[in-house]
Amino acid sequence: MRPGPLVIDTHELGRRPGTERTYDLTVPAPAELGVDLIGVPEGSDIAIELRLEAVMDGVLATGTASVHLVGECVRCLTEIQDDLVVDVQELYLYADASEEELQLEGDLLDLEPVLRDAVVLALPINPVCDPECPGLCPECGARLADDPDHTHGEAIDPRWAALSQMTDPESGDTPDGPKE
Ligand SMILES: [Zn+2]
Ligand SMILES: [Zn+2]
Repeated sequence: MRPGPLVIDTHELGRRPGTERTYDLTVPAPAELGVDLIGVPEGSDIAIELRLEAVMDGVLATGTASVHLVGECVRCLTEIQDDLVVDVQELYLYADASEEELQLEGDLLDLEPVLRDAVVLALPINPVCDPECPGLCPECGARLADDPDHTHGEAIDPRWAALSQMTDPESGDTPDGPKE
């Protein structure tokens, strides 16, 4: 195991069952903590409150991690900023862990896989800026939440719209273009 901000040395905890220690950590987020549309920016602060307790077979880690999220609304593509607190709980065995289990390496305990699972499971698959987000106008791409009364009247074929602009420059009746 490579030493890193999410690797905790349990040497001081010892192995006597019932012994426990608490930790208050602020660590930089590892890379690619998240899913496609939303995640924790690499290097942003993760605040971890952790309790380690020595049990018969290993060390039980229990706590919470507070992360900052940045993502994109699936409906209107606006940036989303959010905070998330996840619970973590995992038993790290002293020895003989199977594939689904985690094991201490010497005295070292790696929180990263547990944190990763907890954060990814808590993330929305389809993040939205607001549950009511109306998305984008299918005709011009304007963000409807910014412009709720937005209409186009009769649908205009963009080729005809361009032509009518050319033939009637005085009308001032230009079709709506994309809006910010
Ligand atoms: Zn949105
Ligand atoms: Zn529109």
